[in-house]
Amino acid sequence: MKPGSHPHSLGLGLTSPASRARLVAELKREGIVDERVLETLMKVPRHEFVEEAWRGEAYKNKPLPIGQSQTISQPYIVALMTQLLLEVPPGGAPRKKVLEVGTGSGYQTAVLAELVQNVFSVERLKALSEQARNRLRGLGYRNIHFGYADGTGGWASHGPYDGIVVTAAAVDVPKALLEQLEKGGRLVIPVGPPAKQSLRVIDRVSPNKWQSRDVAGVSFVPLLEGKA
Ligand code: SAH
Repeated sequence: MKPGSHPHSLGLGLTSPASRARLVAELKREGIVDERVLETLMKVPRHEFVEEAWRGEAYKNKPLPIGQSQTISQPYIVALMTQLLLEVPPGGAPRKKVLEVGTGSGYQTAVLAELVQNVFSVERLKALSEQARNRLRGLGYRNIHFGYADGTGGWASHGPYDGIVVTAAAVDVPKALLEQLEKGGRLVIPVGPPAKQSLRVIDRVSPNKWQSRDVAGVSFVPLLEGKA
């Protein structure tokens, strides 16, 4: 084989820039318009966040297993939640301090860390929390703070947050998360029982007023109580 003619050097590998660009083009067709989000999905190596056996699938628009019966969300959903979280009302300040509930593989965490100053991420499964922490440190992220805890109660000591994203589905929106939102802050959370979940966007418009709308049907693993 001539130098440079190996499929990988031609950019045909399954984790190559070409396969990432195909994914990003698909997300754009599906309605992701925020260029910062698209650029970030092009940049963050999703194949580093899935088990070895699944690497070849990492730039397909589908969820994948990450161990412990959990899944890394579909790229479209990560992009949509990030786009919703970054959206600010006219004249509003860009989001700076974000809480994520459900670290999982750490992929959504990395995407957020590319786009805001500080990310606080909480996971209830010790094995996943430690693995994500090591992975993200290894990839060079220094603006992520990891918590091993039940995120249903948020992370009060670092709050309030101008953005909160929950990557597991709640039956009811946890009160603590509403309380830990700053005025003008936004919570993005899947809500509802399995097979009937909606992605909900909740804005704290004033100290005592929250405004909510459902934007899409989704399918997430459940938000569970306690640590394991
Ligand atoms: N954002 C993750 C998605 C992982 S799936 C990723 O990109 O890989 C959802 C995660 O939420 C799982 O890891 C699950 O263990 C975690 N989770 C469920 N209930 C939780 C809770 N109460 N507190 C913190 N994490 C929780």
